[in-house]
Amino acid sequence: MFDQYGRSINYLRLSITPRCNLNCIYCRPGHCPTGFDPYSQTRVLTVEEIDRLVRAFVSLGIEKIRLTGGEPLIRDDLEAIIRCIRQYPQIRDLSLTTNGQDLASRAQSLKDAGLMRINISLDSLRESTFAEITGNGSLQRALDGIDASLQVGLHPVKLNTVLMRGINDDELDNLFALTKIRPLALRLIELMPMNSLSATHERLITGTEILQRYPLLQRIADSYPGQPAEDYRLPGYLGTIGLIRPISHRFCKVCNRVRVTADGQIKGCLGKNDETDLRPLLNQPDDQLLRDFIRHAIHDKPLGHHFEEKRAPQRSMDRTGG
Ligand code: SAM
Repeated sequence: MFDQYGRSINYLRLSITPRCNLNCIYCRPGHCPTGFDPYSQTRVLTVEEIDRLVRAFVSLGIEKIRLTGGEPLIRDDLEAIIRCIRQYPQIRDLSLTTNGQDLASRAQSLKDAGLMRINISLDSLRESTFAEITGNGSLQRALDGIDASLQVGLHPVKLNTVLMRGINDDELDNLFALTKIRPLALRLIELMPMNSLSATHERLITGTEILQRYPLLQRIADSYPGQPAEDYRLPGYLGTIGLIRPISHRFCKVCNRVRVTADGQIKGCLGKNDETDLRPLLNQPDDQLLRDFIRHAIHDKPLGHHFEEKRAPQRSMDRTGG
């Protein structure tokens, strides 16, 4: 369906848990010490609730779903969620974003359940920096998850990297090298102001700066209209390098997505505080009421984010779903 500004909304980003086994410095609420779980009491959507939601969204024209969190692999019933979504033939794209820590042993079962493709966060290739950014994550486990995803054919395997000045921005050569002989799609995401570390833009590395540093990057045509990443390739490299520039080249005009948080709030924009609780409607048998509610929320999707105000939204990224 179309929103009030004429944008066609066909993409649902569905968070299935705010909980995470890592504690990334740009994502979690600033005060969150490693080992502390601020969301242990959050009641997340059940498979049955997700089924009802997906049915309603599909009837309104949603064709693409990305599962995210928090860390979606924390849920034991992730495969059941995937199978449930794949019942709907209207869903032509089902993907997952993960930190890859527990992926190696699960990639095959995710693929078997019907997952089509995967994004894995990889912010550093230096063990110590990886651990510093993620609050003790294991680089090796993430790399094993990438290998397993390639092996089982979760194609394309995309790698999400948030560059931060003074932390990992000296690693571009090594990160680019990942795309040399493997069909990986590396994506460099501009740091969005989602918590106290990211709020000031001091650490922000823009896509423009990357293009200035690497004039050899060759632009590739978009794979589909309105794709958020601008894709590039280094001459002779098999994989691609995407620049996702929500701050310096905002893509709100072509934004096609709507979000549902793990606790059932529908949000039209990552960078805005507006949200509406869908849970009361999930307790009622009337599908039409749920559909009408979602239709209104999509219609009212905000025109654009206000990240340039350098003010983090009230929900940190882990609570919204990245
Ligand atoms: N736990 C999973 C993971 O690590 O990929 C999924 C959730 S995470 C919130 C999803 C994506 O959001 C990650 O690729 C992460 O890099 C990105 N992200 C989180 N906070 C961000 C921020 N402040 N700016 C840009 N990207 C961010």
